[in-house]
Amino acid sequence: MQSVMSLDRIRVVLVATSHAGNIGGCARAMKTMGLTRLVLVDPLRFPDPEATARAVGAEDILINATVCASLDEALADCQLVIGTSARNRRIPWPVLAPEAAAELMVSEASDREVAVLFGRERTGLTNEELDRCQWLVNIPTASAFSSLNLASAVQIIGYEIRRAVLRGDAVPRTAEDMLGEPLASAEEVQRYYEHLQQVLVETGFLDPDNPRLLMRRLMRLYNRIQLTTNEVNILRGILAAVTEPHHKKPRN
Ligand code: SAH
Repeated sequence: MQSVMSLDRIRVVLVATSHAGNIGGCARAMKTMGLTRLVLVDPLRFPDPEATARAVGAEDILINATVCASLDEALADCQLVIGTSARNRRIPWPVLAPEAAAELMVSEASDREVAVLFGRERTGLTNEELDRCQWLVNIPTASAFSSLNLASAVQIIGYEIRRAVLRGDAVPRTAEDMLGEPLASAEEVQRYYEHLQQVLVETGFLDPDNPRLLMRRLMRLYNRIQLTTNEVNILRGILAAVTEPHHKKPRN
């Protein structure tokens, strides 16, 4: 749940928004994705009934929004600032894909203040505002029409942030975490391969004079999963039982 908490350290900064309705739309987009901190820099009209109407259930985000006179004020305590841009600028700012940007924001927000900036409906962010950003994010679009509605852009970035949080929460990740038993070491796995090869030769399944790619294919099969020590022991027990039929069955 650490990563969900970190969403409190990600602020959505809307710069000089001219349509109050868009501010409400952004608040709604944010709330669906678990983002709560809205900062408005020099909005044309706010508060405004149109903003409230478009928020539909996310009025709390508007009520708690901070209104700042300048971008400096909005970013004063931030350690990571990311700007969004519909255009590929001539001056090459470092650009991240939405997914990578979200990953960075969520990981930084575990102990830093993070801001993601959205620009004016007509003209976006100025170059001076982009200078304040360590990274730019561009949402891939059709090349002939790259400009999304402001709230749609917030929705997409918010969704990627949400996905980054969910990926971070997707523990247990390894078989060790899932099964609560230790993973086999490379040496144990290697010994199993040797044992397997020996049995395959003994049983005539593998012709040592014409081995082809059999062992490699089998190793590739096992490499796709994470074997535990216990599982390796079972597999070796099976091999032993094949070659010595009265081999004592291990207890599992
Ligand atoms: N003509 C403006 C478009 C502004 S759209 C421009 O070129 O930037 C309003 C805001 O929505 C943008 O400033 C940006 O914050 C966001 N936005 C719109 N389309 C986007 C896209 N394809 N990628 C990233 N952000 C986008």
